[in-house]
Amino acid sequence: MTAARTFTKRATHQPDWPDSCELTRARQQLASAPPLTSPKDIRVLKRALAEVAAGKAYVLQGGDCAEPFGIAARRGARAKDAVLGALSKQIRHAPVVVIGRLAGQFAKPRSEPTEVIDGRTMPTFRGLAVNGPEPVAVQRIPNARRMITAYHTARAVLAELDNGMWVSHEALLLDYEEPLIRTEGSTRYLASTHLPWIGERTRDVDGAHVEFLTNIANPVACKIGPAATPEEVVALCARLDPQREPGRLTLISRLGTHDVRTLLPPLVRAVRAAGHPVVWMCDPMHANTRITSTGLKTRHLQDITGEAVAFHETLRELGQWPGGLHLELAGEDVTECVGANVPDENALVRRYTSLCDPRLNNEQASVVVESLGRLGDDLAHRGLGRG
Ligand code: PEP
Ligand code: MN
Repeated sequence: MTAARTFTKRATHQPDWPDSCELTRARQQLASAPPLTSPKDIRVLKRALAEVAAGKAYVLQGGDCAEPFGIAARRGARAKDAVLGALSKQIRHAPVVVIGRLAGQFAKPRSEPTEVIDGRTMPTFRGLAVNGPEPVAVQRIPNARRMITAYHTARAVLAELDNGMWVSHEALLLDYEEPLIRTEGSTRYLASTHLPWIGERTRDVDGAHVEFLTNIANPVACKIGPAATPEEVVALCARLDPQREPGRLTLISRLGTHDVRTLLPPLVRAVRAAGHPVVWMCDPMHANTRITSTGLKTRHLQDITGEAVAFHETLRELGQWPGGLHLELAGEDVTECVGANVPDENALVRRYTSLCDPRLNNEQASVVVESLGRLGDDLAHRGLGRG
């Protein structure tokens, strides 16, 4: 079986695969592999997200920035399944839809094509579906066979998860995603995941990633960063949710703790005026990244809770339902973000194991969710949501 091209526009952040035969072979294998998700489950999740759009449920989405392969993938999935389950019990103001950043989070957009490690310049790590994280130039060469390992890892991860867990990842690597489209009747579903999202770097309304999402029936999500204008966001809504269908489109705002209160209201008002029943979610991680004096990427818990609280208060002031929280978390006792049981930047070195961005440990994630507890009670009280 060969995988037909489903997009015509230019795709950014794609690897330069050095071996085109290997790429063709990998795409063919993915195209004939069993689907990872079913149309029925995808429809059930879309209905659950329609409940969120109506203010009757709340999403908790979380997991690694970049997922590992091998035994670490399965062990990590069990740990994240457990912590997401525990965190969801801390949310009392609405029924919770739990969605993992799991079973496919293997490709990363990078701001720079190269990086310098120990004085040597090499291509950046782009996620395990593309190249290796080891600081050795040869490992950084894209290898299309890695997409097959990614697929088998995703299958193994799905087998570890309990049935209540939905999965999501950034639909970045189109040579992986495209061959995993399946059809039911005349409807196309992306069978690599339940909920694909596109990131801040690939949300160009005239780009391939937006075009790709327009061709599938899954619920879809899009990150919204500080540079987004109301016009751009409305144009994205028109492309990604032309039917104004509840549950189809989730917008994940990641605006930064200092800017969220000013940047968010015009976006929310514009989307509301355009009549799109989107889910508004908060990613308080990606616009709050800092570099320590020793060059480590980190995030401070107070910035994360600050953005999360400001997001929920802002939506509430606008009379809109804050639909959920998107976190990078490890499910393990890592020391990658500062706050709670990681007192300062000096404590980061003890257990910093992330393949990409800094993740919350369990105690830190619990602090973030708890910071919303009072707000949640207030939302329920005001009749925003079922309560
Ligand atoms: C991510 O979710 O890991 C990511 C790269 O996010 P964003 O597109 O919001 O920067
Ligand atoms: Mn990340």
